[in-house]
Amino acid sequence: MADRIAHHVRDLPRSGIRDFFEIVQSMKEVISLGIGEPDFMTPWHIREAAIYSLEKGHTGYTSNLGLPRLRAVISKYVEEHFSVSYQPEREIIVTVGVSEAIDIAIRALVNPGDEVLYHEPCYVSYSPSVVLAHGVPVAIPTKSEDDFALDAEALATRITPRSKVLLLNFPTNPTGATMDRARMEKIAALCVKHDLIVITDEIYSEIRYDGSEHVSIAAMPGMRERTLLLHGVSKAFAMTGFRIGFGCGPQDLVEAMMKVHQYAMLCAPITSQEAAVEALLHGAPAVENMRREYELRRNYIVSSLNDMGLETFLPRGSFYVFPRIESTGMSSRDFAMGLLKAENVAAVPGPAFGAPGEGYLRCSYATALPKIKEAMSRMTRYVERARKGQFAEAV
Ligand code: PLP
Repeated sequence: MADRIAHHVRDLPRSGIRDFFEIVQSMKEVISLGIGEPDFMTPWHIREAAIYSLEKGHTGYTSNLGLPRLRAVISKYVEEHFSVSYQPEREIIVTVGVSEAIDIAIRALVNPGDEVLYHEPCYVSYSPSVVLAHGVPVAIPTKSEDDFALDAEALATRITPRSKVLLLNFPTNPTGATMDRARMEKIAALCVKHDLIVITDEIYSEIRYDGSEHVSIAAMPGMRERTLLLHGVSKAFAMTGFRIGFGCGPQDLVEAMMKVHQYAMLCAPITSQEAAVEALLHGAPAVENMRREYELRRNYIVSSLNDMGLETFLPRGSFYVFPRIESTGMSSRDFAMGLLKAENVAAVPGPAFGAPGEGYLRCSYATALPKIKEAMSRMTRYVERARKGQFAEAV
C-alpha cells in the first residue's frame, strides 16, 4: 500500500514525541515531565459556561469565521494584550486550536516551492505543515548562548528570492525563549525589507516570568499589514481539550484562511466557542494563579538542573525548560531512554524539536511541584551514575 500514499505524506517522519510517548504509556508509575499540557483543570466558571451552552441547546454550526460574540471578545482581548486592533467582522477567524490556525495559514500562503523560515528548536508541527503545503521548510538554528532568541543576522543569511513566510513562536516551545523589543525590531525590519509575511504563534504569551514584557511583532511599525497573529486558549486557560484558537490579520489573509477552513473544518465547535467567550472575558485571575504556580516550579526545576551540573537556560516564558545534557557524554535519546528505564522519569529528547536540539532535553513543568521534586531527585541520582559511565551499555 505504501506506493499509494502521497509521497510527501509517506516521507513525513512521525513526531518524535509520539514515538517516545508510546514507550512511556506502556510503563507504570512514570513521572512525566514530557507533556506540553497544563496539569490544571479548566477553571470552573469556564466549564460552567460550556455546560450552560449545552443546556440552552446551542448545538449547531456557527458562522465559518466563528461566533460574532467570540470575535468581538477576541478583538478586545488582542487589543489589550498585544496592542494591535483587528475588526471582528473581517479580520479574525476562530479555528480548531492554534494547530488548525498554523495549518490553514500556511496552506493559504504557500505556493509549491515557496520557502518558509522558522527558528529551531521549535514546535513539532511547523516543518511538517510546510511540507504538507508543498512548501520548503528552512530552519534557522537558535543557540543557548543567545538565549535561544532569533538572531537577525542568522535570519538574513537564510533569506532567498523564494523566501515568503517567517514563522515565529515566542515564548518558544521547547526552550522557553522570549524576544526583547530591540531584537524583535531587527527581525521586523528584515521582514519589511524582504517583503516577508509573518505567522506569529503567540500561544504562550500570558505565561511569562520576572515581569518580562510580551512583544508581539504584529504591533511593530509596518508589520500589521504583513502579519498573521495566532493565539488560543489551550495553554494559559488550561483548555487544551476545548480546541479553540484564532487568527488575526489583514482581511485578505484572513479571507484566504477562511476559504481553507470552511472546506476543511467548517467551524470550531460551538460549545467550546461559548466557553472561550467566558475565558477571555473573565479568566484573567485564574490565568494569573496558574502563571504564579508555573513560576515557582520554573525556579525550582532550573536551580535543580543547574545543581546537577546540567547547564540550563532560565526561560522567561512557556512551561518548558531545555537543559543541556551533553556534559554526561550521552546523546539526548540515550539520556532520555536511560532516565526512563532507570528512574521512571520521562522527558523528551531535544532532537524531537529539530536537529539543534541534540545535546538537550525538554522538561515540561506543567506537573505538580511534589512530582517535580521527586523527578529532580531521581534525575540527580541518574546524572551521577551517568557521569560514572554506568549506563554506557544499558541504553
Ligand atoms: N503552538 C505551539 C508552540 C504549541 O506548543 C502547541 C501545543 O503544544 C500548539 C501550537 C497547539 O496548540 P492548540 O492546542 O491550540 O492546537
